[in-house]
Amino acid sequence: MRVLLVEDDKALAQGIRVALRGEGYTLDWLADGLEAGHALDSERFDLVLLDLGLPRKDGLSLLRALRSKAQGDVPVLVLTARDATGDRIQGLDSGADDYLVKPFDVDELKARIRALLRRSQGRAQPLLEHAGVSLDPAGRKVHFRGNPVALTPMEFQLLHQLLARPGAVLTRERLAEALYGWQESGPGNTLEVLIHNLRRKLDNTLIRTVRGVGYLIEAPR
Ligand code: CA
Repeated sequence: MRVLLVEDDKALAQGIRVALRGEGYTLDWLADGLEAGHALDSERFDLVLLDLGLPRKDGLSLLRALRSKAQGDVPVLVLTARDATGDRIQGLDSGADDYLVKPFDVDELKARIRALLRRSQGRAQPLLEHAGVSLDPAGRKVHFRGNPVALTPMEFQLLHQLLARPGAVLTRERLAEALYGWQESGPGNTLEVLIHNLRRKLDNTLIRTVRGVGYLIEAPR
């Protein structure tokens, strides 16, 4: 799950980054409204955490611009100041899915994010089942031939990407964008290592390497 955090309070942003990365989300952070607008125009995110008071372009303008686009239905959770009741109402009126008042508890943030993702994933994607593997995107669970399989958050994300498009070759670039966002991969979670782990935990023949291009899961026959 790729989350965009738009927040100009550095300390708050840092706290949210640490908390969400610990949950296995890919978190990209921008502190500038204009840059956030460009990112929302050109890249895909599964969820946006949006502060309203931002340099160069305010959060409400960003939200309205996003909702006016054809593919602009990504869930948005607005982060507002305690005394700004008007902001909350305007935020919801402008298309926010939910809001949190600062300062908030990080566990509450995590719960709200899970609820929003469940809603959007449930709409977009039920259980993915293929070649003996079943993956529940909302519940974040994987079974292989009926048995539960324990995957790390990164392994889960990678399998989710591949299972969502059986028969399609997913390029290394595309997978890296979905898995790491703008961060570098670490030594223990390069694409090769994650693929190796999935083959080991599931079936060695499940994921095919397309040399020089990427990976795929064969389409059902
Ligand atoms: Ca702010």
